[in-house]
Amino acid sequence: MSSRPRSALVVGGGVIGTTTAYRLARAGWRVTLFDPTPGRGASWAAAGMLAPIAEIAPGEKENFRQQRGALTAWRELADELAVVTGDALTIAATGTLLVGFDASDRRLVDQFEEVATSFAAPSRRVQREVDVDAFQGVSPRVREGVLLEGDAWLDPDEAMCVLQKANEILGVEVVAERVLDAAFGESGVEVRTSEGTTRAGIGVVATGAASLPAGLRHRAVHHVRPVRGMTVRLEGFDRSNQPTLRAFVRGRSLYLVSRPGGYCVLGASSDEQAELAVEVGELQRLLRDALELVPALECATFRETRQGLRPASDDLAPFVEVIDQRWIWTSGHYRHGVTLAPLTATAACELAEKMS
Ligand SMILES: Cc1cc2nc3c(=O)[nH]c(=O)nc-3n(C[C@H](O)[C@H](O)[C@H](O)COP(=O)(O)OP(=O)(O)OC[C@H]3O[C@@H](n4cnc5c(N)ncnc54)[C@H](O)[C@@H]3O)c2cc1C
Repeated sequence: MSSRPRSALVVGGGVIGTTTAYRLARAGWRVTLFDPTPGRGASWAAAGMLAPIAEIAPGEKENFRQQRGALTAWRELADELAVVTGDALTIAATGTLLVGFDASDRRLVDQFEEVATSFAAPSRRVQREVDVDAFQGVSPRVREGVLLEGDAWLDPDEAMCVLQKANEILGVEVVAERVLDAAFGESGVEVRTSEGTTRAGIGVVATGAASLPAGLRHRAVHHVRPVRGMTVRLEGFDRSNQPTLRAFVRGRSLYLVSRPGGYCVLGASSDEQAELAVEVGELQRLLRDALELVPALECATFRETRQGLRPASDDLAPFVEVIDQRWIWTSGHYRHGVTLAPLTATAACELAEKMS
């Protein structure tokens, strides 16, 4: 169909765009990726949990099914990336320990367990007296929890680094410019930045929660809205040999992902806001809940906060939409974009093959 059918433009260099660029380049496409700040969107704020079971929510069985597949896809992608780059990407299958802080929080854990059971997801009750190690650092008032084996985590910073290195090796051209306009050329697509126009056979838009570039905005069927989230980075408390900790603390949910060496990601806030700001109250709530749940964090060092805008679609499900046969738009990954990146990239690449 196109005069240059095997060339692709990827707009957006978060985990979705970067993984898609990788998939396309591996499949032999000539890829140009546009992003003024690659890797500094929501993907930068993410904790990196690959936690299909802990993310179970009522009515989201399809989401659970997809995420379970995504975990396998990440393992396969990590193996591939190791061959391309020589770098190993750690995927730590620590599982998740879910606990409730007070009596009503424990009821939330019971409700979670009921939904997990209805999804046939593995979970088992654990007691502090028996599984002493799993409760390391957790407040003594928490006596029991639910262990979700099979959940994992990776470090998004490391994953982005390895993916970007692979893309460089495979010849992906990165243009550090914002795409202002995306259009349909005579036999393909084109994008305009402040520096000029670039053309290719097909285009992929992976701009997360950002609005689509002009030219596509009014042609797309889906809609995304930003949901602001913050993670807090701490150092000096190591639970990396134990399951990732998730909890309800006075009705609010909290997680603590611990990496070897004592680097911890504490998360996460969630606000229907589009502005990247750290609200003092939200930061205080997150730290207060964490300190009550894990008193040992008292001596940890505060490193930084990171904020990002989760891309939420109307039904909270991710999508891959083809716009007028030449542009592929993928977004709506909401709380699960890191987890779903390899599956989304494969789906986008398969569509690109069909369109070429
Ligand atoms: C606090 C927090 C914690 C999270 N934790 C997890 C987790 O543990 N596990 C998980 O699976 N998911 C998690 N998520 C969700 C996950 O981060 C997102 O779903 C995912 O990062 C979305 O990836 P993306 O590539 O679509 O978007 P982004 O990472 O936001 O990337 C979009 C990119 O597009 C670029 N861009 C935008 N407009 C343009 C334009 N016009 N031209 C060029 N470039 C443009 C931006 O600069 C940006 O780099 C978390 C999110 C947040 C906020």
